[in-house]
Amino acid sequence: MSTIEKSEGRWAEIYQHFGLMPSTQHWIKECPFCGKKKSFRISPDKIQYGGSICTCGEYNGIQTLMQITSRDFKSLCDEIDGIIGNQYQQSSEPSQRESQIVKYNRYRRTLKKVKGTGVELYLNNRGIYKMPKLAMGAGVETVNGIKCDVMVCLATTNSGFPCYLHRTYIINGQKAVFKENSKGWIAPTKKLTRIVETTESTAIRFHYHDQELGVAEGVETAKMAELKYGVRTWSLLNTSIMKRFVCPDGVKRLVIFADTDKKGAGHAAAFACAHKNLIANNDITSVIVRWREKLGDFADTEYSRLMEWTFNK
Ligand SMILES: [Zn+2]
Repeated sequence: MSTIEKSEGRWAEIYQHFGLMPSTQHWIKECPFCGKKKSFRISPDKIQYGGSICTCGEYNGIQTLMQITSRDFKSLCDEIDGIIGNQYQQSSEPSQRESQIVKYNRYRRTLKKVKGTGVELYLNNRGIYKMPKLAMGAGVETVNGIKCDVMVCLATTNSGFPCYLHRTYIINGQKAVFKENSKGWIAPTKKLTRIVETTESTAIRFHYHDQELGVAEGVETAKMAELKYGVRTWSLLNTSIMKRFVCPDGVKRLVIFADTDKKGAGHAAAFACAHKNLIANNDITSVIVRWREKLGDFADTEYSRLMEWTFNK
């Protein structure tokens, strides 16, 4: 496998080796390509290919490193091979982490853009018409002999590692409900697959973040919260991921949309997340926890009063 193929999904490690960090903030110094100041950055959202961006253009990881280090393609590839363990003659098995990322990359290539698929129809049926730019794709899978559309969302860490795939199965624009098969097993409507183990902050990042960021548990909840309250919102998937989520640099105002459930799990996770962000060494100045008065989440259509609590740092 060539260095370019093998380096896919490994750019957080490669950049770390060269003392570089993906960031949502621009470099203060000159762009290595055009020389303009405060214009260039290595993008966490394009970290899959090591992408960097400036007003002068977009570049992949190898192009970026060649420009920054002024080194030639061959010598850089040799060094990158050393970092990621890419040896053509290598006979030993790749590490589990590597093979998971390779498997994920293979799967990701089979996905389509959401527009024009059954996934778009499903989101439209839920009242969501603005499709996310990033982190979501549309697949097709056969479950119990039934062909389904699959809404596939990718969760990544703040430094850009792919770590979870979240699938929602859809039939005719509605959430799939499967019948028991001959072995008495009922296929789930949603599936969460871990790509790599991580303790880092993880989120489905539907867009580049700004000074204000919303977070919610579910995918549909995040999209509906965004629609209703105008806060661009990421999905954190579940309460345990929410509890450990800390905003990336640059976010000043965090809005946490909590699910209201009988045992208070949604609130517990939301306030734990608020606390974690308020004591973290980041750019946060205020955290707002929002929930709905009645049981349910922000994707429910029934009327329920908005409740909120604001913390100022
Ligand atoms: Zn530039």
